[in-house]
Amino acid sequence: MSSTADVVIIGGGVMGASTAYHLALRGCHRVALVERDVQFGTGASGQNAGGIRHQFSTAVNIELATRSIRMLERFPDELDQEIGLTFCGYLFLLDSPRDVEVFHANVSLQHAHGIDTQMLDPDDIARLAPGLRIDDLLAGTFYERDGLADPSGVVQGYVNGARRLGATLLCETQVTGIEVTSGRVRAVTTDTGTIQTDVVVIAAGPWSAQVGELAGIHLPVRPVRRQIAVVRPRAAIDRGFPFTIDFSKSLYFHREAGGILTGMSNPGEAPGFDTSIDAEWRSIHFAHAIDRLPSLADAEVVAEWAGLYEVTPDQQPILGRLPQAEGLIACTGFSGHGFMLGPIAGLLTAEEILDGRAHTVDVDSLRWERFDGHAGAPEYNVI
Ligand SMILES: Cc1cc2nc3c(=O)[nH]c(=O)nc-3n(C[C@H](O)[C@H](O)[C@H](O)COP(=O)(O)OP(=O)(O)OC[C@H]3O[C@@H](n4cnc5c(N)ncnc54)[C@H](O)[C@@H]3O)c2cc1C
Repeated sequence: MSSTADVVIIGGGVMGASTAYHLALRGCHRVALVERDVQFGTGASGQNAGGIRHQFSTAVNIELATRSIRMLERFPDELDQEIGLTFCGYLFLLDSPRDVEVFHANVSLQHAHGIDTQMLDPDDIARLAPGLRIDDLLAGTFYERDGLADPSGVVQGYVNGARRLGATLLCETQVTGIEVTSGRVRAVTTDTGTIQTDVVVIAAGPWSAQVGELAGIHLPVRPVRRQIAVVRPRAAIDRGFPFTIDFSKSLYFHREAGGILTGMSNPGEAPGFDTSIDAEWRSIHFAHAIDRLPSLADAEVVAEWAGLYEVTPDQQPILGRLPQAEGLIACTGFSGHGFMLGPIAGLLTAEEILDGRAHTVDVDSLRWERFDGHAGAPEYNVI
């Protein structure tokens, strides 16, 4: 295969699929979306918890999430694809004075952006999520327009939409090189041939640092394993049970397929590509989960898997043009909250390419240049 494209997107997860769709929607049809796996959405986009929330600590993430969730609300009409959007709310549980203080400030910032998050006391928490142990809690936060959506529906909707609009979608095609000469991108080489192009988008999720190296660029994105289990307790879970996060432990639950999906981040997890189940971490996770939601003690494990976060030093994405080579664009490093930001990130990446600069949201604080000593505040609300 030898061909040409106006834009080559490396990585067929939610970022690549959304970017391909938004480029094609704007009339840029000579787009090639290149994915090495047999189908799209099998990376982090196929392994995540499906959470969508406005409750962030930085203005830019609140703005990105607000716009992205609005795009998810329009998704079934725009893309003729159901995505299981459910507004069950996100409930953060806080057990340390420091977190209560920081969340008070975060809630004020969210209010300033029109997000009506509530501060809760432990009695409010008990009413909202019956069955939780609350005796050690100091406070909580809740926003009713946070919730859940179906990740595979979102990826498939964008993939099918991009295909209908004329984009070229290539699976089982691994990018092996990015040709850069005289400071600008010329071509992408793959294991099935070369694609001549002036613009390359790196949307390779946890593998983005490896892909960046193909162009001689350091992208500070580390793969970090995260484990999830779906369990079925004997007692039915209330339909209105919110997406609940025990913040100091990075432990979370939400309703899933009649049971509970639960995950917990291991603070000692070393970066790497291992996605096997860590049996020791599973025991620690389940002990904490039962401690917070005692009805899980008799639960049967229905499914279990591990996936990779794509983590940057400040837990913020890397968006926009890369200064090292003309035509090279990053859309990566979403640090565990990229599924919900996929819609807006693809739209902004299309703007960066077609309009010279992303403009629906000002993403200057998320550009690669911040690692040159201008980094702003890191995201605090990371799970
Ligand atoms: C356990 C877990 C829970 C999560 N929970 C949530 C959540 O509740 N809410 C939320 O918003 N986010 C969540 N996330 C994060 C979210 O899944 C990611 O931020 C998001 O999916 C990243 O999308 P992506 O397109 O950048 O990466 P990916 O989906 O990983 O896509 C990258 C693609 O690039 C391909 N690729 C890599 N190298 C090459 C190459 N050389 N050539 C061709 N293709 C290549 C890969 O095969 C892969 O398909 C979670 C993540 C995990 C792991």
